[in-house]
Amino acid sequence: MTLKGSLEELAEPVDGRISGSTQLLGLVGDPVAHSLSPAMHNAALAAMGENYCYVPFPVAPEHLATAVAGLAAIGVRGFNVTIPHKQAILPLLSQIEARAAAVGAVNTVYPLPEGGWAGTNTDIDGFVQPLLGLEKGIPTLILGSGGAARAAIQGCLELGLGPVRVAGRSPNPLLALRQTWPQVETVNWAELDRYLPQTRLLVNTTPVGMHKPGSHTNGELSPLSREQLCLLSPGAIVYDLIYVPDPTPLLRMAAELGYTPISGLEMLVQQGAKALSLWLGGKPVPVEVMRQAAQHQLPQI
Ligand code: NAP
Repeated sequence: MTLKGSLEELAEPVDGRISGSTQLLGLVGDPVAHSLSPAMHNAALAAMGENYCYVPFPVAPEHLATAVAGLAAIGVRGFNVTIPHKQAILPLLSQIEARAAAVGAVNTVYPLPEGGWAGTNTDIDGFVQPLLGLEKGIPTLILGSGGAARAAIQGCLELGLGPVRVAGRSPNPLLALRQTWPQVETVNWAELDRYLPQTRLLVNTTPVGMHKPGSHTNGELSPLSREQLCLLSPGAIVYDLIYVPDPTPLLRMAAELGYTPISGLEMLVQQGAKALSLWLGGKPVPVEVMRQAAQHQLPQI
C-alpha cells in the first residue's frame, strides 16, 4: 500500500472541518449508499461554517432499536430516517408531531432536552414548498397510495387543495387513507381516466419511472401514457416525486404537452432544508447550495 500525500497532510482533519468538537447529524436507512442527503447537508453545513458533519448510517431493520439508542448515547444532534424505517421508528420516539402521526411516518428526528427523541415529517413541508401560492380548491389527483402518497395528501389538505383524489390499485391502502382522511376520494386505478379532465394538479407517488441502480430499462416507464396525459385539464401541473432520472419520462411528456412540470428533486431539497434548519435551532439554511449539491450528485443516466 502506498500513502498518498505527506504524513502532515494525512494528519489534517478531513476537509479541514472535523475536529474534537464536531457534532454529528446523519441518515438511518437501508440502503443509504445512493442517498443525495450527505452531499446536500454537508455542502450547506460547510457554507454556513457550522461544525457539524452529516453521516450515512446503514442500519438493517433488526438493528434499528439498538442503532437509535446508540445514536442517543453518542450525542447525535439529529437524523433523517429513510426506507425501510419511516414507520418502524415511531415506537422508538418519545414525541411524534400530529401531522407525522396522521401520515404514519417520520423522516426527521431530533433530541428532546429532557432526553429521548422527537419525530416529525419534513417530507410534507418539502412536498408543499413548490406548490405554495397555488390557489385553493384545485382538483388534485394523486397516483399511488403508499408512504409518499400519505405525505402528499397531508400537504394537499394543508394547502386547501381539493377535491383530493387518490388512485391506487390495491384496496387496503385506499381504505386506510379514507380512515385517516375521510374527505379524500379514492379511485380504482382502472377508472382513473374518468377523473383526468377535471385534474389541475397531478402527483405521481408511484415508483414507476424511477431508475434503479444497474437497470437500463425502467427509466423508460411512465405511470400514465401520453394519451392519458392529454386528458388533463389545460395548464395542469404535473408533479413527479421521483428524482432519478430528472426529468422522468412522465415530466418530459408533461412539458412537451405544455403542462407545468415539478421535479421530486425540489421536494428532496426542501425536506432536507427544513430538517437542517430544525436541527440548527431554526437558522435559515442555504437552499440553493443544497439544490446544487443534490443536482451535482445525481447519477447521470
Ligand atoms: P411505497 O410505500 O412502496 O408506495 C408505492 C405506491 O406505488 C403503492 O401505492 C403501490 O401500489 C404503487 N405502485 C407501485 N407500482 C405501481 C404500478 N406499476 N402501477 C400503479 N401503482 C403502482 O413507496 P413510497 O415510499 O410511497 O415511495 C414512492 C416513490 O416516491 C418512490 O419513487 C420514492 O423515491 C418517491 N419519494 C420521493 C421523495 C422526494 O423527496 N422526492 C420522498 C419520498 C418518496 P401497491 O400498494 O398496489 O403496490
